[in-house]
Amino acid sequence: MDQETIIATIRNHYPRAEFGSKLVKQWFTILQNELKLPPKKLMVANCVCSDDVNAIQYPEEARETLGPFNMGGLDGFPFAGLTGMNAFAHHVPSDGALSIFYGPHIGITKEGELGKIYRIGQNVSSNCCGACHAALNKLLTDKIILNEITDIDYQQNILEQILLKEETRIRVASSPLKEATEVIFESIEKRIRLLVSQTYFPCKYVFLYGVIILNSDYNIGAFYEVRTIELRNTITGEIKPLLVNVQ
Ligand SMILES: [Zn+2]
Repeated sequence: MDQETIIATIRNHYPRAEFGSKLVKQWFTILQNELKLPPKKLMVANCVCSDDVNAIQYPEEARETLGPFNMGGLDGFPFAGLTGMNAFAHHVPSDGALSIFYGPHIGITKEGELGKIYRIGQNVSSNCCGACHAALNKLLTDKIILNEITDIDYQQNILEQILLKEETRIRVASSPLKEATEVIFESIEKRIRLLVSQTYFPCKYVFLYGVIILNSDYNIGAFYEVRTIELRNTITGEIKPLLVNVQ
């Protein structure tokens, strides 16, 4: 299958989807233009789902940066919390900057089936994100109990509570899975902003880079639909939106 057919399939669901490796290169251009910094001066935190597919499909180009510091848990929610954000902040090179890459993920097979991928060595497709699927199934069968958060399945229970708060919106959507992914994106971004607002950064600049990660099959790779790119000056509090630079 050629690259144009693949991206056309992905864009049926996410019209602004782009190849992960292409976006990383664009990102390095932004870094150079805005801060005159090379990738090796950038400490990156990844706030993405624990699913191994995100490690397997991590763009090779991104390995030029420092890190990643892993901030995410199930479906990319920043479960490392304030302590994680503080630790990450203090790993920045003295003449460098920080970047936080965050977002939930959703599978799309080469046939265009949303919420599924073919994984390495498997002939049948499987759920992606599995945690989002499970939380959604529980929501749609009225099995989520308000404020029920257990020790043994803490992260999943938090995702369930996030979906429960937006139950109506998810139920009426043409694709409840896609809508649940949007709800989780918004929840991740809100939490990242809260964590950033409560963290002391020993550097002048922090980038926020928010996406929906679109995992395709094992022999294809990952795409992103970029939702947020902004540069925050930690001293003045000024926020510069940069999303227009990649569209
Ligand atoms: Zn996942």
